[in-house]
Amino acid sequence: MQFKLPELGYNFNALEPAMGAKTVEIHYTKHHAGYLNNLNNFLKDLSQFDKMSTTDLMKNLDNVPSKILASFKNNLGGYANHNIFWRGLATGTTLSGTFKIALENAFGSIENFKTELAQAAATKFGSGWAWLVLTQQNELKIVTTTNQDSPLMGDKYANASGYPIIGIDVWEHAYYLDYQNRRAEYLENYFSILNWDEAARRFETKAE
Ligand code: MN
Repeated sequence: MQFKLPELGYNFNALEPAMGAKTVEIHYTKHHAGYLNNLNNFLKDLSQFDKMSTTDLMKNLDNVPSKILASFKNNLGGYANHNIFWRGLATGTTLSGTFKIALENAFGSIENFKTELAQAAATKFGSGWAWLVLTQQNELKIVTTTNQDSPLMGDKYANASGYPIIGIDVWEHAYYLDYQNRRAEYLENYFSILNWDEAARRFETKAE
């Protein structure tokens, strides 16, 4: 198997009350694992992609057979996006340093940044993601993607591009058990479990 489920690094209940243990457990062991298994199954028949990272795969979507492209893309994005999502959650981290300054420069203030990100996530119609990305011009920007599209797939495949710093899952499975239809409340509480250290690491290193 080319890919595996990453360690969460925390217990299912670690993010309560913002994100309940049952939500984390089902999201991780069913949804994330489902995308992973489907992706690995596709890759068994695609030897040209041996040893490629998920980011490399996203840059090679032109080379995926067209009859499986839609499903391959969905499962690749679903696997990779959730890797970013889980690492991007924690309790007790704080925003500081060069990343904080860069956010203030880009959005005027941290409060304004949070408002804009939450707004983009709240108004994303249907299932998808809201992202803070670093553009090729090294600018911090908020974008959204549909379904499991990733900004790493680029404009052609995701109608968005950039290197993800923060990714918020706004599929109902991410919040329904805890918040039912109240997506805005999920987003409000999301900031209390945002892993600022991981976001800063991604901003500084642009590494997976
Ligand atoms: Mn999800």
